[in-house]
Amino acid sequence: MTAEQPRHPALAATDPELAALVRAEEQLQADTLRLIPSENYVSQAVLEASGTVLQNKYSEGYPGRRYYEGQQNIDLVETLAIERARSLFGVDHANVQPYSGSPANLAVYLAFAEPGDTVMGMALPMGGHLTHGWGVSATGRWFRGVQYGVRQDDGRIDFDQVRELAMKERPKVIFCGGTALPRTIDFAAFGEIAQESGAVLVADVAHIAGLIAGGAHPSPVPYADVISTTTHKTLRGPRGAMLMCREEHAKAVDKAVFPGLQGGPHNQTTAAIAVALKEAALPSFRTYAESVVANAKALAEALLARGFDLVSGGTDNHLILMDLTPKEVPGKVAAKALDRAGIVVNYNTVPYDPRKPFDPSGVRIGTPSLTSRGLGVEHMAQVAEWIDRGVAAAAKGDEEALAAIRAEVAELMAAYPAPGLTV
Ligand SMILES: *Cc1c(COP(=O)(O)O)cnc(C)c1O
Repeated sequence: MTAEQPRHPALAATDPELAALVRAEEQLQADTLRLIPSENYVSQAVLEASGTVLQNKYSEGYPGRRYYEGQQNIDLVETLAIERARSLFGVDHANVQPYSGSPANLAVYLAFAEPGDTVMGMALPMGGHLTHGWGVSATGRWFRGVQYGVRQDDGRIDFDQVRELAMKERPKVIFCGGTALPRTIDFAAFGEIAQESGAVLVADVAHIAGLIAGGAHPSPVPYADVISTTTHKTLRGPRGAMLMCREEHAKAVDKAVFPGLQGGPHNQTTAAIAVALKEAALPSFRTYAESVVANAKALAEALLARGFDLVSGGTDNHLILMDLTPKEVPGKVAAKALDRAGIVVNYNTVPYDPRKPFDPSGVRIGTPSLTSRGLGVEHMAQVAEWIDRGVAAAAKGDEEALAAIRAEVAELMAAYPAPGLTV
């Protein structure tokens, strides 16, 4: 794009400083190999929908039941998003208003528990999410969080432990799903335990919603009372969230989101969610979801061949959790070095991590973004080689090697333009 015709002309005129930062971020997203498994590139259509005048409108309430007038168009926008969510995931009811994944989960607690009640989820250092009852989160302070984990020997969920804990503690709500789980979630097993113990089962599929929509991960619909998801991870929509449930819970969920927790919905986000859901219903999205998993499996194989220690020994989904202990590099040192090499990852605790959460042993990577750019299994040996060289360079403090990788990465990424970017 030329200097005379900036991408955001009004923004560039009003606030050149901010426009330059947006431009720089776009360049960074173009040049780097983005491996953070919770990130993605949205389509130009999703970007456009999220930057519309829909954002000027207040719409407290739900379609047909609003507290403000002038909803002729907004009602139709939200109804489109709801109907597309119902059809894509095969659910009775969808609420598309939660501002993001954490408020969506808070709404679930509001719907099904009282302060001080016992709730159950996977421990954060085991791969769970903060909002699954972890102590520093409001959900762990206002509720009594009891936490399950994975087995130390194979990194898999220990369902005997989950059942025992649920029967002993009788939680009101059980969360399954997480942020660092490289393996298929057995929703049927969780469903059985929730039924036995009388708990509401919440499947938090924030990370894998796109894989479920694309048929690359089993659906929780037959087993979960409520499904919580963000819309911006593998689902490739705007930053937002949805709650889906059976008809019997529809009223409780809606009441908890509004007026329980939120005011006006972000209509521009609702519109962009509707667009993303339309895209996710296309046959090409099934191909995308399958490729995300095929790429992750190929990358895991290539990393294993290079002596990397992967939690649970590999992956079934889009995500890989590496324990760098055998490489003798702390996760944070590796993550920061890889960032300088143009490979964007995040440091992460591994189960039973002897190191501190702010300086853990692991690095978490994933394939949603690179797959959106069209990279395939044939590229994964190269990606593994860069990671291997980058981690070795981190151990030695070899900045020259990192700069060399950065140049190679930028060259490959230039050949695979990202959706939504103009650079
Ligand atoms: C990302 C994520 C969330 C939170 O989403 P935010 O939009 O960051 O608040 C909740 N649960 C799980 C499992 C997640 O992966």
